[in-house]
Amino acid sequence: MIKAGTFKGKHIAVFGLGRTGITAALSLAAGGAHVYAWDDNPDAVKRAEAEGVAVADLKFANWAEFDELVLSPGVPDKLPEPHWTALKASENAVPIICDIEIFAREVMGLPERHRPKIIAVTGTNGKSTTTTLIGHVLKACGKDAQVGGNIGRGVLDLESMHAGTYYVLELSSYQLERTNSLRANAAVFLNLTPDHLDRHGDMDRYEAAKRRIFRNQTSEDTVVIGVDDTEGRRICSELKVANGRRIVPISGRKSLGHGVCAIKGKLYCAQGSKVVEVANLNKAHALEGMHNWQNAAAAYAAVSTLGIEAQSIGEALLSFPGLAHRMETVGEIAKVRFVNDSKATNANAAQQALRSYSDIYWIAGGQAKSDGIEPLSEYFPNIRKAYLIGEAAPAFHKTLTKAKVEHKISGQMEMAVLCALRDAINSDAENPIVLLSPACASFDQFKNFEVRGEAFREQVNGLMNRFEHAARRGTAA
Ligand code: ADP
Repeated sequence: MIKAGTFKGKHIAVFGLGRTGITAALSLAAGGAHVYAWDDNPDAVKRAEAEGVAVADLKFANWAEFDELVLSPGVPDKLPEPHWTALKASENAVPIICDIEIFAREVMGLPERHRPKIIAVTGTNGKSTTTTLIGHVLKACGKDAQVGGNIGRGVLDLESMHAGTYYVLELSSYQLERTNSLRANAAVFLNLTPDHLDRHGDMDRYEAAKRRIFRNQTSEDTVVIGVDDTEGRRICSELKVANGRRIVPISGRKSLGHGVCAIKGKLYCAQGSKVVEVANLNKAHALEGMHNWQNAAAAYAAVSTLGIEAQSIGEALLSFPGLAHRMETVGEIAKVRFVNDSKATNANAAQQALRSYSDIYWIAGGQAKSDGIEPLSEYFPNIRKAYLIGEAAPAFHKTLTKAKVEHKISGQMEMAVLCALRDAINSDAENPIVLLSPACASFDQFKNFEVRGEAFREQVNGLMNRFEHAARRGTAA
């Protein structure tokens, strides 16, 4: 755990006692702050107390006494409704921060030569893959890489810092909004499409939150920016005009005069007339598809800017094992391959899988996002048939009927998988894919996207066992 020594003697309210909140409270207390921690859920308060957190009901606290409020990133301070702690904070002019800000102040509190390196990653889609990939590459190159933030371990839960440490941090817009002091040696901005607008209000504010990743960067720091989407290209131009730091554009699909790009899976580093092939991503089994090539380009650009040698990075990219629930092959039955892309919770994310395969038996639906599946129509020709589940099924049925895509409303995952397998196995397709890429949140039927993906995996495993068993007995399953 990282001790928050820069908060020594301060009075800090902490609200939201999930894993991150508990760690923040413990880290602040270990650093010598006076902590007052609370949660609306009594069980969370009990758990925190059992772990040694100093709890206090913030409803009855003297807010004028607080220097800052550490508010869990998931708790809104403005939209859709400000939480009561945010109202109290604003009435008493108490600034709202999050655990990333605490971490950033600890780093900035060190003399420059003792500071660890920070690689921060944001974007609407691809953050977790890119963050994990960068961590993997750094470790493979023999570096002490600590990976966390919005993924896996909270940032204050990571090992304490020293000059040789590389912190690779996934940062959400919610976290960035409450972070002022972070200076990223390399800031990766992958892409920007509409998401979380209920919380940010509109695209401008969502973009403004994400762009805070570039705050405090100096001419010694690097911006790695995805230019495969219109917003990314615009932001890249704006940053170039503003000047001040090294800018490395990246693309998963088109050649760049300057930057890192993948063309048909081959990754190139281009600097004017000098273009060097640095990896053949077609050999990386966990980096399928142009979106993953963009993630690989981002990882290469971020790591190489820290002075690590090109060949070692290229080799490390190929051994990336991949992440669960992101275009993850979970099984095969006869000619049918099952791909779990449960993390695709919006149309833009699902688009990546739909364009990476043909002959798709597509399981989609759940709790619909505002953009529906109309933006995916370009990829409908890759779909042999769709199987709709969850609340979004009637709306998706309408879109697919209009687009003349064969489909059925399956309702539940179990039925969808069974029907998809039956149709795929009986089809004339050579390599059909049963793809769970819902383009929806999971909360109507599952606790979260992980539980949804696990339900898919378990069912596929069960079916594989049945098929194996039947094959051994020489009967049809
Ligand atoms: P995040 O952490 O930003 O949600 P993940 O790495 O978990 O992103 O990937 C989630 C989904 O987003 C993947 O299943 C894939 O469909 C899509 N995706 C991944 N990388 C990219 C990218 N660079 N551009 C667009 N979509 C992507």
